[in-house]
Amino acid sequence: MTGSSPLARNYSPLPVTIADGSGAWVTDGDGRRYLDFLAAYSAVNFGHGHPALIAAAQEQLQRITLTSRAFDNDRLLPFAEALTSLAGKQMMLPMNTGAEAVESGIKVARAWGYRMKGVAPDRAEIIVAAGNFHGRTTTIVGFSDDPQARDDFGPFAPGFRTVPYGDIDALRSAIGENTVAVLIEPIQGEAGVVIPPEGYLRAVRETCTRNDVLFIADEIQSGLGRTGATFECDNAGVVPDVYLLGKALGGGIVPVSAVVADEAVLGVLRPGEHGSTFGGNPLAASVGLAVVRLLETGEYQDRARHLGELLGDRLRSLVGRGVTAVRSRGLWAGADIDPALGTGREVAEDMLARGVLVKDTHGQTLRFAPPLVIGQDDLEWALDRFDQVLAARRNSVPSASHDGR
Ligand SMILES: *Cc1c(COP(=O)(O)O)cnc(C)c1O
Repeated sequence: MTGSSPLARNYSPLPVTIADGSGAWVTDGDGRRYLDFLAAYSAVNFGHGHPALIAAAQEQLQRITLTSRAFDNDRLLPFAEALTSLAGKQMMLPMNTGAEAVESGIKVARAWGYRMKGVAPDRAEIIVAAGNFHGRTTTIVGFSDDPQARDDFGPFAPGFRTVPYGDIDALRSAIGENTVAVLIEPIQGEAGVVIPPEGYLRAVRETCTRNDVLFIADEIQSGLGRTGATFECDNAGVVPDVYLLGKALGGGIVPVSAVVADEAVLGVLRPGEHGSTFGGNPLAASVGLAVVRLLETGEYQDRARHLGELLGDRLRSLVGRGVTAVRSRGLWAGADIDPALGTGREVAEDMLARGVLVKDTHGQTLRFAPPLVIGQDDLEWALDRFDQVLAARRNSVPSASHDGR
């Protein structure tokens, strides 16, 4: 980069500048097309420019877009009714970004701890998992164990305790009288689509119930269709006390997030204790309602499940041929690239050159998360490109040990 971009350098984007998009495809300024295999970290689950979502946004743009919560708007209640019914909960708190939903969940859990559980003032503790990603605010990065996310951003808020992800015994022994909540991702997305052991989420549920502790599921990336179910917790057969939702809830159009829980939990909030200028605005609520309507059909969850089998099978067939491990659930996969072939970033750049947008995470992992509207042909086309990229790298690195020759 030549010195003087006016953009802060908190990202290092792949070298493509997107100008347009439709469905699973995007186009750069020169008219080159790329298949979007990231879907804005699952914020674009329904594809670019989904007609029903664009229509909801356009219709609302003509009417009114922002009222603040000082007044009610006629879109918010219908959105709240639809979302709570989709989630099987009684209440929702509308916010904007995912990090705000997480922060709101933390505040609600603490207030619940003091007011309902009787935890001594300022002693509430929330248990989180190693390898977590819950957003970028100072409180949230304070309980991250990723040095890139944390270093030089302290001092951090107290009140969090970290246990290894997927280890139920560690979780059980970390719970004390001041524990108010366990906050985990049902699948750790940023960590590389890390799936906990079978039975873990059920054991978390039981442990929380037995100890009068809230189970907060951060489904901001895993939820809303991605894993072949409305929530990844559905796949695991568990119901958390609190869902944190975001990303796809805004249909790829506006930031929309929410805390969804029963009244016994969210009912602790009193007027004036929490808020957001933009949270629950009519435009966001219209788009959010349209998103819930899409999910009510079950069609996108089914697509994710069926196409996900293809994605998982194809990726697993590459283990030993440039890929060292694959983790997948629904239309969501992490594939670890054999370091002998290069870094995740290098492979992502090769994929870009062949017309597929993927993003590396944590050095060697590529995350695959195409929009759920992707056609099977396009999915297979992209996986063919991945096959070719790995083959080219295997051939140019004769010392690579896993090519079977
Ligand atoms: C992306 C993400 C967040 C943060 O969402 P933002 O909208 O970027 O603030 C929180 N939790 C999980 C699991 C996420 O994937």
